[in-house]
Amino acid sequence: MPSNSDQPDVIVVGAGLAGLVATAELTAAGRRVAVVDQEPEQSLGGQAFWSLGGLFLVDSPEQRRMRIKDSYDLAWQDWQGTAGFDRDEDHWPRRWAEAYVGWAAGEKRQWLREQGIGLMPQVGWAERGDGTAEGHGNSVPRFHLTWGVGPAVVKPFVEKLRAAQQRGLVDLRCRHRVDELVVTDGAVTGVRGIVLEPSDVDRGRPSSRTSTGEFELSAQAVIVTSGGIGGNVDLVRESWPERLGAPPAFMVQGVPDHVDGRMIGITEQAGGSVVNRDRMWHYVEGLRNWDPIWTEHGIRIIPGPSSLWLDATGKRLPPPNFPGFDTLGTLHAIKATGHDHSWFVLTQKIIEKEFALSGSEQNPDIASQSVREVLKSRLAKGAPGPVQAFVDHGADFVAATSLEELVAGMNAKTPEPLIDVAAVRRTVEARDREVANTYTKDLQIAAIRNARTYFVDKVTRVVEPHALLDPDNGPLIAVKLNLLTRKTLGGLHTDLQGRVLREADAPHADWRPVPGLYAAGEVAGFGGGGMHGYRALEGTFLGGCLFSGRTAGRAVAAQLG
Ligand SMILES: Cc1cc2nc3c(=O)[nH]c(=O)nc-3n(C[C@H](O)[C@H](O)[C@H](O)COP(=O)(O)OP(=O)(O)OC[C@H]3O[C@@H](n4cnc5c(N)ncnc54)[C@H](O)[C@@H]3O)c2cc1C
Repeated sequence: MPSNSDQPDVIVVGAGLAGLVATAELTAAGRRVAVVDQEPEQSLGGQAFWSLGGLFLVDSPEQRRMRIKDSYDLAWQDWQGTAGFDRDEDHWPRRWAEAYVGWAAGEKRQWLREQGIGLMPQVGWAERGDGTAEGHGNSVPRFHLTWGVGPAVVKPFVEKLRAAQQRGLVDLRCRHRVDELVVTDGAVTGVRGIVLEPSDVDRGRPSSRTSTGEFELSAQAVIVTSGGIGGNVDLVRESWPERLGAPPAFMVQGVPDHVDGRMIGITEQAGGSVVNRDRMWHYVEGLRNWDPIWTEHGIRIIPGPSSLWLDATGKRLPPPNFPGFDTLGTLHAIKATGHDHSWFVLTQKIIEKEFALSGSEQNPDIASQSVREVLKSRLAKGAPGPVQAFVDHGADFVAATSLEELVAGMNAKTPEPLIDVAAVRRTVEARDREVANTYTKDLQIAAIRNARTYFVDKVTRVVEPHALLDPDNGPLIAVKLNLLTRKTLGGLHTDLQGRVLREADAPHADWRPVPGLYAAGEVAGFGGGGMHGYRALEGTFLGGCLFSGRTAGRAVAAQLG
């Protein structure tokens, strides 16, 4: 179709990572793009800016240097065990997953390098799994941290956007909120919405929704890259699956307010289909942020494996619900107690080595990209600064020199005292007796010893098993853990080109695209409407935005001829 010189070739709705990557591909192919976002320009990059920059790679040079033997086969085995694909609508998500794991095992690292994205040398071990070879989890460490965390993932694509703006290829429309997709003869041909009043709030803070007028744009194709639903707790509750128990009464919010999920319904209205709405990835180790940026701002602890995990009544969670092993399995176990919170009980020694916080602003040393800063903060005595700030100011921490004092502090943090100190003492003493030998029947202690066979864990991440009640290991600490919203695993149903499919009375493999309508990133379940299936291996979300944004951008550029 020839393009009208006054209008863009393509409209991208959402200037988060997926939208920026799609735009980079389109402008590299010489296409003119209108990039529309409801937030002010200072929030370019969306959630990815706040992210830790963790990236899933398979058989990378970094892994090989750490003597990790990984392969496509092992990663695909882990992905399938984690995803648990079991629905007809999993046809396209499964194909996206295959393509994505192939990319992560192949071209991805070189491509990241070409974009100027560097990686830290040590590889982290996220989601260590449910204890079975064919089940959920990473058999080996695969979590590669970006040097510079989230901002460094976003930077190259913002730079490309700026360069394309200079060449007249990008029309950036911030404070433009899309409320409707324009459909002409069954094809999506544009967007309509309101122009929001200017906002000078700092990045990530809630911005006003006051309208100053309306707008409409036309183009040959629209790519929806508007993110998930984690900033809309009502929508999270509405989509909450029965298999995880009753929807939580209280959750902290792990994403900014703009992650409002509105574009999902708007895209459905234009004929796009949505699948796997009930699949979500929420964390169980959320802290109420003492220095919040967005509404009910929660921070996730990325824990090492040694904290003792107790439910709201003080009972130890059953194996394999150890810190950092099986996020949704643990969420299920917590919800089964009838309460929304749980507790870590640990020592000063554990918090110093094993607590990391997710979020770029919680890792200023790595964000600064200064080796000196990283060494200074990570090798210093005591807990890292941002962790210590939570101990000092956070509403969810208790420190004590005796178990009696600790439990009294824990009971003071709930409307009614729920924990019996004698029962907790029995649990802790029994656990402590298990650390005297190198062998044990306590599966958590065994898992800690297994983790320490990985050099990186031993040196940087996992303390030697020790008695919690031994005062030499520092004061006892209890941390109240809240449920924290984060990622949306289902979404707009797309084929392998990112074309949004229209519902049909046929197997999903035969559904046809809505002409002119594409989607990528979290709103598309990172590809297909749910390439993760039920669960995730971690570091797969940013990568999912890079891969699906790139795919959709290239597909649209090719389609336009
Ligand atoms: C604290 C934190 C840590 C994370 N850490 C990691 C990690 O280490 N590894 C990993 O893989 N993932 C991580 N993630 C997840 C990852 O960052 C996100 O899944 C990903 O960035 C989503 O990108 P997106 O482009 O799909 O959507 P978003 O970043 O949500 O961007 C969507 C954009 O669309 C705009 N928009 C929405 N609706 C409209 C509308 N109607 N009109 C106009 N504009 C609209 C929004 O304003 C926003 O700018 C983390 C996330 C957070 C918050």
